[in-house]
Amino acid sequence: LIEEAAIGRSRCFHHGGREAVGQCTDCSRSFCRECFVEHEGRLLCAPCLERLIGAGDTDESPQPLRRTVLHVLWAVGGFTLTWLWFVLLGLLLVNFPDTFHNPNLFS
Ligand SMILES: [Zn+2]
Ligand SMILES: [Zn+2]
Repeated sequence: LIEEAAIGRSRCFHHGGREAVGQCTDCSRSFCRECFVEHEGRLLCAPCLERLIGAGDTDESPQPLRRTVLHVLWAVGGFTLTWLWFVLLGLLLVNFPDTFHNPNLFS
């Protein structure tokens, strides 16, 4: 097996029993059909694809994060306002004159 690989009949980097169909365009290692992923017209292995996608994400990640923070702030603000409204309503009801609860006093 080792001799075979040395001769040039390359095997998959992950699956020693499988014949490689090509080389990763990024790390130049040989992989079988199953290990390859096509990304923007390039054949990549899974680790290289993850690395490329991860590297591309770092540029755009701050904005979605800020948007998420805004959403959370809006949600918390809305919840607080609703809560305040109910507290005020409760206070109003509690402080209403007794006549409101006992209309019979006037009759
Ligand atoms: Zn690779
Ligand atoms: Zn493989």
